[in-house]
Amino acid sequence: MLTFDQIKQEIRNTWYPVLRDMLYEHIESKRETQSKVVHEGFACDGCKMNPIVGIRYMCSVRANFDLCENCEKDPSLSQHTMLKIRNPQRAPAKLICQYGTGMNKSIVSAMTNADLLSSISALNVGNLMP
Ligand code: ZN
Repeated sequence: MLTFDQIKQEIRNTWYPVLRDMLYEHIESKRETQSKVVHEGFACDGCKMNPIVGIRYMCSVRANFDLCENCEKDPSLSQHTMLKIRNPQRAPAKLICQYGTGMNKSIVSAMTNADLLSSISALNVGNLMP
């Protein structure tokens, strides 16, 4: 009969390397699949890659501002929060983002849709509205 410590050691010696290799293989497979994803209709505003291939980063503030994986790493290009889009079918058509208004969440949650829309207009992000 094995002790608990012996069982743990057996798992470490036998299964850890197998599971680690399976995990690395899985990660590499996902990375390779992602590297081939094409975001038709979206060009990188950094390096001008057109269309963006791999992961697309969509700016939460600037309309029609997208970056590829490499350009997103450059802090001078991605000054705002960027949405990471792996699957083009799951990309939002538009984002509305609110920064630094001084309103807390309870005030925002108590607002009606009309109040929220007028607040958004007051924030001068009307170009993002449908
Ligand atoms: Zn780029």
